[in-house]
Amino acid sequence: MRWRAAIVAGCAGLLGGVTAFGTVRDAPEPPVARALVVEVLAPRIEAAAGEIVQSYVHEVRFERGDTFATLLTRLGVDGADALQLVKQHGGSKPFRALRPGMTVRAETTDYGALRSLRFVSGRDTLLGFEREGDGFRVVDEPAQLARQIVLKSGEIRSSLFAAADDADMPDAVTMQIADIFSGDVDFHRDLRKGDRFAVVYEAFHHNGRLLKSGRVLAAEFVNAKKVLRAVWFDDAAEGRGGYYAPDGKNLRKAFLRSPLEFSRVTSGFAMRFHPILQQWRAHNGVDYGAPAGTRVRATADGVVDFAGVQGGYGKVVILRHHGGITTAYAHLSGFAADARKGARVAQGDTIGFVGATGWATGPHLHYEFRVNSQHRNPLTIAMPAAEPVPPERMGAFNATARPLAAQLELLADGRFAALD
Ligand SMILES: [Zn+2]
Repeated sequence: MRWRAAIVAGCAGLLGGVTAFGTVRDAPEPPVARALVVEVLAPRIEAAAGEIVQSYVHEVRFERGDTFATLLTRLGVDGADALQLVKQHGGSKPFRALRPGMTVRAETTDYGALRSLRFVSGRDTLLGFEREGDGFRVVDEPAQLARQIVLKSGEIRSSLFAAADDADMPDAVTMQIADIFSGDVDFHRDLRKGDRFAVVYEAFHHNGRLLKSGRVLAAEFVNAKKVLRAVWFDDAAEGRGGYYAPDGKNLRKAFLRSPLEFSRVTSGFAMRFHPILQQWRAHNGVDYGAPAGTRVRATADGVVDFAGVQGGYGKVVILRHHGGITTAYAHLSGFAADARKGARVAQGDTIGFVGATGWATGPHLHYEFRVNSQHRNPLTIAMPAAEPVPPERMGAFNATARPLAAQLELLADGRFAALD
């Protein structure tokens, strides 16, 4: 099967709210996560010392469909400050320049009062707002970004986000890790207590302040003792980069393991609907408990075969893929604007939203996977991978991959030493 990777830019940063912390299914202990090794290569400069009020820093990506208001809510900014900001500077440059994909960093007090909000626009302009008396002043200055490489690792005791918090790793990096391994790991079902991660990523500073995290350059994820590794390779010949195993295999699979967006909220949502494998046979699908409105994504490139209401399925989207494969997403509360019969969708595109239409006792996604009209279990089926690094590019790939793989080894060594 010839299949080319769709770079899933759209789902690299599916960010949720900051409320729910769930538990790994087989983790009976209280959620205590610990980062065993936290190593930073260059000194990290924190906010000015000696301040009395506790500061919190939130970093999120501005997503397609976001408004400034939804962004401020996700950043933990108090409603009165959000209103004040819009009233005072509604038409200002920072409001106009914000685009999907930009990473926004906000500093708030423990009560949610906004102290500053910043993002980099284009290559080199720092935009945002800073508290000034009772109001805010606009920040608009040239940015000189200093790049650092940060190494972090942790072990999952309760949830991936809890472990990431403990390692002081921003959500934007956690989401990238989930995205990189989304062809191999269903982050809603597969996580186990004791799973581990190690990651090498970029961070950018401006005037000694951490401004944003950047791309994950290498990552390791140990899921149920299975070791997965990825390194970023920007293949000039292909015109774009991707994640590959250290031996050059492509990490992208034809199908994502999970049809549900991964976020703080969904990662913590209890598996209330027959989560056990045997029950799959009884009802020919996999159910994901999730809050109503959670984004549902196409697990593979395909064409919309059906988008409408169908008996017990309620509102359902059916996609047609290569190789006689179809996938169905049922009980939706609504459809994405582009999910119309005949429309092409790419892997990771939002096609609808979790609901409880049809025969559903509560909000959840019912997901089916069929090969030539026969139901198959998507949790166990082997998925074809995208093309590996071509032989003539392996020299360039190794030059990039080896030092990164060595850094992961280093992290792993430190971690195992700490476990002893
Ligand atoms: Zn179901």
